[in-house]
Amino acid sequence: MKLPLLDDLDVRGKRVLVRLDLNVPLKDSKVADDTRIRAALPTIEKLLDNGATVICCSHLGRPKGKVDPDLSLMPVAQALADRLSMKVRKTEMPNGPPEDLLDMPRDQLGLLENLRFDPREEANDPSLAMELASLGDAFVNDAFGAVHRAHASVVGIPPLLPSAAGYLLQKEVEVLEKLIDAAEHPFVLVLGGVKVSDKLGVVRNLIAKADSILIGGAMANTFLAARGIDVGASKIEEDRLGEVKETVERARASGTKIELPADVVVATEFSENAASKVVRVERIPRNAMALDIGPLTCVNFSPEIAEAKTVFWNGPMGVFEWHQFSNGTREVAHAVVSSLGFSVIGGGDSIAAINSFGLTDRVTHISTGGGASLEFLEGKSLPGLEALTARS
Ligand code: ADP
Ligand code: MG
Repeated sequence: MKLPLLDDLDVRGKRVLVRLDLNVPLKDSKVADDTRIRAALPTIEKLLDNGATVICCSHLGRPKGKVDPDLSLMPVAQALADRLSMKVRKTEMPNGPPEDLLDMPRDQLGLLENLRFDPREEANDPSLAMELASLGDAFVNDAFGAVHRAHASVVGIPPLLPSAAGYLLQKEVEVLEKLIDAAEHPFVLVLGGVKVSDKLGVVRNLIAKADSILIGGAMANTFLAARGIDVGASKIEEDRLGEVKETVERARASGTKIELPADVVVATEFSENAASKVVRVERIPRNAMALDIGPLTCVNFSPEIAEAKTVFWNGPMGVFEWHQFSNGTREVAHAVVSSLGFSVIGGGDSIAAINSFGLTDRVTHISTGGGASLEFLEGKSLPGLEALTARS
């Protein structure tokens, strides 16, 4: 993919509008996890170093086109000011005139209020794109987590201003392209989490490229059921059984192994302190649900992951938020970081898991993109990337 790049954009003395993904979790009006803020800093710092005046914008949460004080970017402005040691001028735009940004000195950073307070953002209304474009002489999109959305600030601005991809966006695209086009073998895909429906597209697109696909989490239940195994009271997606069978067939035809849990940790209620036990998948009691992969499955999965040259992992192996169902996810996390190959982890909960195990720094790449990473790996064309490439 030929993206126009930040390093090639002339920004000296210019005002640059930067679309970021500052969609951070908040708690008590403070930033609870600043991963996304830190991920945005290299692009902001590069622009400042190159003599640009920088105006940032982002969405936060889902205010559905209305002002919601609980979703204000004010705490983000504070966090940015602390990280960059500079004054951050937050403005009510897009719901008010941006006059105060137009005469902003270069040693300050501009930050627009939550773009989704304005209904025109998600409606991709050209009038909002025009208002936003009028704030800058150039545009940088570094919001990888939003490139799968055809929203005004994502797709509407590149046709109006000289535009480029920021460093985070550039890196994400390079890494994910490598997984699709140039993965070294063995290439192991590890998938888990809640829904088969979220991830089946990735499995389909990568079946022919991966050597094996290891499946855990609630997602494995539907695959086990498709194999004719009675998974008791475990959650399954009945309406996906057909697609799952078809996918397993395709994997077989292309010589890709799909590996499912051999044993699971089950409980009769969905609760942190439920009594649990390990059973073979063929022996899941009728009233029990699988909440983690079992020790035998960890023994099956771990060496395969550790010996891979390329690993992509998305989705926890169990309810890792509860200690007694966290073992499978922890074992897989350790196997991923012990592999000497190229390892990529995506998905909000998977990232939270790897963070909670203190292993984050040992992964080659953490994809902060969530939905965008998955859609990229599904082989879909992403509107925000299309809008940028149309300029190069
Ligand atoms: P990600 O955000 O990494 O893409 P998902 O959102 O798909 O991952 O799934 C994460 C959630 O899946 C976690 O909250 C975890 O508790 C849940 N989960 C994993 N395995 C199971 C299971 N066997 N039963 C119920 N929930 C599960
Ligand atoms: Mg999730």
